[in-house]
Amino acid sequence: MAAKRDYYEILGVSREATQEEIKKSYRKLAVKFHPDKNPGDHEAEDKFKELGEAYEALSDPDKRAAYDRYGHQAFAGGGGGGGGFHDPMDLFSQVFGGAFGGGFEEFFGGGRRQRSGKQRGSDLRYDLEITLEEAARGSEKELEIEHFGPCGTCNSSGSKSSGGTKSCSSCGGRGVVARQAGIFIQQTTCPECRGAGEVVSDPCSSCGGDGRMHKTSRIKIRIPAGVEDGTRLRSTGNGDAGVRGGAAGDLYVFLHVKEHDVFEREGSNLFCEVPMPFSVATLGGELEVPTLDGRASIKIPAGTQGGTMFRLRERGVPTLSGGRKGDLHVRVQVEVPTRLNSDQEEKLRTFAESIGDHNSPMQESFFQKARRFFDL
Ligand SMILES: [Zn+2]
Ligand SMILES: [Zn+2]
Repeated sequence: MAAKRDYYEILGVSREATQEEIKKSYRKLAVKFHPDKNPGDHEAEDKFKELGEAYEALSDPDKRAAYDRYGHQAFAGGGGGGGGFHDPMDLFSQVFGGAFGGGFEEFFGGGRRQRSGKQRGSDLRYDLEITLEEAARGSEKELEIEHFGPCGTCNSSGSKSSGGTKSCSSCGGRGVVARQAGIFIQQTTCPECRGAGEVVSDPCSSCGGDGRMHKTSRIKIRIPAGVEDGTRLRSTGNGDAGVRGGAAGDLYVFLHVKEHDVFEREGSNLFCEVPMPFSVATLGGELEVPTLDGRASIKIPAGTQGGTMFRLRERGVPTLSGGRKGDLHVRVQVEVPTRLNSDQEEKLRTFAESIGDHNSPMQESFFQKARRFFDL
């Protein structure tokens, strides 16, 4: 991939540009390079995608601030393809959706809707909670979703008979109606045909002519290993069915990774704290530690202090891009024995007397520093 161009340069605005200026410039350029206007022109298509990415970053104040500080690096950590950016088409309809009522199709005169006469179904969002183990290993889930599915009675045509459709009388087949709003003429989607420009002459009694019905569906999704909290997966075509056989929207699954009892995660690395008996800390030995794949053991050298970190290579979480697995960092905590019997206590006292004050490296260096401070 070639080096990324500067987002401000792509949008043709200065670094001090206001949000309004950024939006205005995006609109102008996105219309110019829109694939519907430049069929088969790959350069225009690339430009359109690039614009979408730049606009998405700069139109969000947080992302813009991150970009100003770190440049493209700010979005590099997203893991895997896409880097968390939206489909440039979705973005385009978001930006134009509000202002042009029925969407951008009529803006180009004879765009998608007029061509097919059918409206695409909505995209849907599903929030899914998963465990850290599922995020690390990947998993398959079955989701139960409420959405519009195709109508089986009329085979999504919306018609009871083969009567088909007729031109909508409310909008004269244009799909939009104009209405005066102050000094502007505002175009909005025709409420009668909902923008299709045509209505069913003999509506299906199951779906009322929509060609789709509200229903519950079970959908299987595959969660790839390495996903993070906030990762968004797209399940193509599993959103709402379109009106009368129009293309279905997509289902976006937002993942939320539950907090784990033992591990904390940072990117692909895992961290945990493990208690270590003070005899092991002193004499050295083996210490059993948990990993996502079961137990493992680490070698504790004699004289290990509490707080020491041990690293188990590649026992962390895989990355979405399939690179090297992260590491597991184990911090040991020295556990002081409680409830000693009198014999044990006696032995420990004997031990303490024999060792005196002269075998505590941490204490010695501490008192050296303290001496300077207190002028002892
Ligand atoms: Zn039907
Ligand atoms: Zn109409």
